[in-house]
Amino acid sequence: MLHKCPFKILSLIFLFVYNGAVIPSFAQGNYKNIPEKVVVLTFDDAIATQYTNVRPLLKKYGFGATFFICEFPPDFSDKTKYMSWEQIAELNKDGFEIANHTQSHSSVKGYGVDMEKKFTADLDSIELKCEKYGIPKPVNFAYPGCVTDSVAAEILIKKGYVWARTCNEKTWNPAADNPMLIPGFPCQGEDTAKIFNYIRQAKKGEVVVLLFHGVPDNVHPWVNLKPELLELFFRYLHDNGYTVVALRDVLKWK
Ligand SMILES: [Zn+2]
Repeated sequence: MLHKCPFKILSLIFLFVYNGAVIPSFAQGNYKNIPEKVVVLTFDDAIATQYTNVRPLLKKYGFGATFFICEFPPDFSDKTKYMSWEQIAELNKDGFEIANHTQSHSSVKGYGVDMEKKFTADLDSIELKCEKYGIPKPVNFAYPGCVTDSVAAEILIKKGYVWARTCNEKTWNPAADNPMLIPGFPCQGEDTAKIFNYIRQAKKGEVVVLLFHGVPDNVHPWVNLKPELLELFFRYLHDNGYTVVALRDVLKWK
């Protein structure tokens, strides 16, 4: 009898299965009213230039953005390379989203035995820092090194994460896509036509998630983007009437 199975009832309330993926209740929604030209900006790895160069540009154009924070080893303490937690806290105060990229930036396939314990500790470490610096508990995640894993996804759901971003070069339909495998177009290098082509794929119900690293990125030069190119893309988004938001803002179209 149903009243004798409270756990089953709870499971039915909080989770349902869609296209083979378990959808966390917080991500569920029909997202019917997502307009055309919605772009989500995401910045990974807490690179120092995200504070010095990206923050002023975001403010200039009034754009939202999500910063996926990790404490990149071995030299996160070198503040010429990485943001300080004080700077990250300031981004939160500015209204930007602070999200989880794990403390260690390990591949989620690299934890070995005791994966749940180790991955959870790696997520908790960032959550505790957020708490310490007055930043709300992160609700979104990005896979370090773009490596995905179904066990990691289950752990993320259990911990209350809404969406997990990958590096898949496609648009995102929040009504249909697996919330633990949301796409992200990597934006780096000097092929501006390629990045403009990503942006122009934002149609009704199909969100474009852009993925940036440092601007510039002197720590990981293979993902470098010149500041003048970021401004070029921002100007285009502004002048062409795009809605530019943080990942968590997409929940408003649920
Ligand atoms: Zn990363």
